[in-house]
Amino acid sequence: MLLENKIIYWNDLNSIQQKNMLLRPNIQRNHVKQVVKDIISDVRNLRDEALQKYTNKFDNVQLDSFKVSQDRINKSEFLVDEEFKKSVLLSFKNIYKFHSKQNMNMIDINIQTGIRCQQIVLPIESIGLYVPGGVSPLFSTVLMLSIPAVIAGCKNIILCSPPPIVNEILYVAKMCGINNIFEIGGAQSIAALAFGTETIPKVNKIFGPGNVYVTEAKLQLNQLLTDLSIDMTAGPSELVVIADHSANPIFIASDLLSQLEHGYDTQVMLLTCNHMIAEKVLTEMNKQILNLSRKSIILSALENSRFIVTNNLIDCIGISNSYAPEHLSIQTENSRYILSKVLNAGSIFLGHWSPEAVGDYISGPNHVLPTYGSAIVSSGLSVLDFQKRISVQELTSVGLKSVSHAVMCLSMVEKMDAHSNAIIQRMNFIKNRYED
Ligand code: NAD
Repeated sequence: MLLENKIIYWNDLNSIQQKNMLLRPNIQRNHVKQVVKDIISDVRNLRDEALQKYTNKFDNVQLDSFKVSQDRINKSEFLVDEEFKKSVLLSFKNIYKFHSKQNMNMIDINIQTGIRCQQIVLPIESIGLYVPGGVSPLFSTVLMLSIPAVIAGCKNIILCSPPPIVNEILYVAKMCGINNIFEIGGAQSIAALAFGTETIPKVNKIFGPGNVYVTEAKLQLNQLLTDLSIDMTAGPSELVVIADHSANPIFIASDLLSQLEHGYDTQVMLLTCNHMIAEKVLTEMNKQILNLSRKSIILSALENSRFIVTNNLIDCIGISNSYAPEHLSIQTENSRYILSKVLNAGSIFLGHWSPEAVGDYISGPNHVLPTYGSAIVSSGLSVLDFQKRISVQELTSVGLKSVSHAVMCLSMVEKMDAHSNAIIQRMNFIKNRYED
């Protein structure tokens, strides 16, 4: 048995032990901070020369050019599998369909007579997309980043991914209309996108997951530059499964294993009010793991995992809400009822037939999601993240007159008499015109 004695009985724990059960794996950032700081400084000063140096050092390649030629992008179509093309087309259509509904309507209303207010929505013009490539070539991330960017109307879209970029990534990028592709990874690529170099254009917002170096670079550059922002800091992946007697332990085991293969620091959690289910899930995991290729990653990530038995389903929901998982799978008899009690989660998979794996590729919603408890306050990537909202207000003289007294009163309380003056000057103008 690989998973002996893993079951925890929630009500046997005191409140401190319960709190400890919900802690995330520690992300060791300290040693990374200085490495990334040096990379950023080098890229800022030496630009392409620094990119060559770090690509050589961390990716073991010497490239003549970071930019992937259009010819190579075009040829990718003939170098990928036909079944892959069909499957990826289905993904593209579903993700496009879901995200196209996120486009925000403009607001244009008459707040009161003579006061028209609008909210116009514009795309962020220049953006950078980071597609991780160290452990796996994540072409699915190309779909999840590019589709909302294109729907939002972003014009200059730059994609970076570590060398060598595989044909599947090039093919999917082209399918999404992205042709500005650079073969560069890690913190150096994030710094290049933030400052711009001789070959890589500067952007104003950087999107995409990555390892600790990529994440640290996004954080540092976001603090350093006022004209740069980032989507989020996507940490290690997480899945919580809430299950009752109706759940199928074979399905749950497969879901937990599929999440665990993402990386060494992934965390999964089973929350059930039925201890037989917990035991059967562990037995099943022991069986299914034998046939999986990423066994060593899964076993390592299992160290952080939790198999918790509670007295009732309400406790399971409470634990999940406190933990605020990136992915939440609800495999219970009345999953819609449980859904109505969920307060915090990145993306939810409802019922016995909705494995989390479909959300990674094909169901439609985005797979770039808040981790590490940030689902308490934030959401998965959407079209809105690629846009900005600008408010407009237009008053007639009648509209201004109707609010003039209130503005003067409020500005005087804040001791802003220049504000009052801006109203008085106009009111005097109106008065004088009538008196003339
Ligand atoms: P990556 O592309 O993020 O990183 C690879 C790059 O890191 C290399 O190109 C290299 O330049 C740099 N690097 C490697 N070793 C270094 C060192 N010692 N010092 C400085 N730089 C170094 O790919 P990865 O490493 O496979 O990581 C991908 C990550 O993205 C994983 O942690 C995965 O869990 C995460 N991910 C998260 C989500 C999400 O939505 N949360 C989605 C997909 C992937």
